[in-house]
Amino acid sequence: MSALFRQLPGVDTLLQHPDLRQLPPDAVRRASREVLDGLRYEIREGLEVLPDIPALVHEKVAALSVMRLKRVINATGIVLHTNLGRAPLAPEAAEAVADVARGYSNTEMNLADGKRGGRLDGVREPLRQLTGCEDALAVNNNAGAVMLALTALAKGREVVVSRGELVEIGGSFRVPDIMALSGATLVEVGTTNRTRAADFARAINENTAALLRVHPSNFRVMGFTERPSTRELAALDAPLIEDLGSGALVGGLGDEPVVGQVLADGADLVCFSGDKLVGGPQAGILAGKKRWVQACRKHPLYRALRLDKLGLAALEATLRVLLTGEIDRIPALRMLRDAGDPVKLLLALGDAPVTLEDDVGYSGGGALPMQALPGQVVVVRGPDPAALAAALRAHDPPVIARVADDSLRLDPRTLLPGDEVVVAHALHAALDGAKGG
Ligand SMILES: *Cc1c(COP(=O)(O)O)cnc(C)c1O
Repeated sequence: MSALFRQLPGVDTLLQHPDLRQLPPDAVRRASREVLDGLRYEIREGLEVLPDIPALVHEKVAALSVMRLKRVINATGIVLHTNLGRAPLAPEAAEAVADVARGYSNTEMNLADGKRGGRLDGVREPLRQLTGCEDALAVNNNAGAVMLALTALAKGREVVVSRGELVEIGGSFRVPDIMALSGATLVEVGTTNRTRAADFARAINENTAALLRVHPSNFRVMGFTERPSTRELAALDAPLIEDLGSGALVGGLGDEPVVGQVLADGADLVCFSGDKLVGGPQAGILAGKKRWVQACRKHPLYRALRLDKLGLAALEATLRVLLTGEIDRIPALRMLRDAGDPVKLLLALGDAPVTLEDDVGYSGGGALPMQALPGQVVVVRGPDPAALAAALRAHDPPVIARVADDSLRLDPRTLLPGDEVVVAHALHAALDGAKGG
């Protein structure tokens, strides 16, 4: 048995140590136990000299408050990068969240009479104005919105879908599986590449609850194809639900359908994400005819999926910015239209060995998959671009770059104001590190 075991201090001794006395005792106790357990293991494995134990405990206590989830700088040029949290919030939305988070709020109180109610009022009105819908509600995400719509409208009955729209969105969201989970029976019509309104019409019977149209968010079928329009399906004798996926509230975003137009074309209920082309927080929005929205709201599943007050605050603020028509104030929407300022980034980088090259960014987030967004990027050529990218990720805050064509690429499109300076600092540190080691 190593003599080192007997030299290990007790937890109580560590609690009294001058460097640790001022720290929260519970944290010191927890950290001490972890450090001592680790050392016992290492002594068994042959450790010969004990390290500075109070210093290790101090480090561990400090590490307790270090957040794993933190802000990173997106230099990938992929605007709605799902791994990076999709849409960055507009400053107005971030402030609304902070405001509501810090104290109490009228989440479910009608201030006029002090009675209960109004949870969705802040998002319903802006959505009515932005889309022309009769009614709307918001839940946790669009996967939840689709699930809720199918369950509330079609459980135990049939839903007709084109074989060309039985899609997988990712993260195990597959239309046939969601359908099964909701208790609705999937009725497939048409073929992978061509489906007509007549195929839908033939499938309608007294047990049909709805027709479902699903936006092929992350892929496109090219060539000999046909897909019935919203108008054609809306003319048939069954409610039409459309899962729009990204849900553009404004036009001009490639071939993305605009929510208001889809409703004007006759869809009865549409659902879409809050953090894709709306440019807001994670949320799922259901909008359309009052009768169907109410059916969703009254279903018990709504209570399980409803949006929390922070999401509601961010969504309402985002929608209110969109109502002003100044859509460039929504960062994600600005980035889709504006390639950013490569020269500003270049100037910030000073004497770093970089060049500007033409390149493309993407929307990401399952929107506009075929639409490359042209712009210029800063290119760093070196022996090991992957190592350089790793060094940038290790910076605080981390900088996420793209590695392609044997080079490291920094795309100004997805930078936020002030990011250039941080990217410059991170790149210089990474290049110095590469030189040094
Ligand atoms: C993205 C997407 C979903 C899922 O939306 P989340 O907000 O990520 O839950 C569902 N359907 C379609 C068509 C989508 O594009």
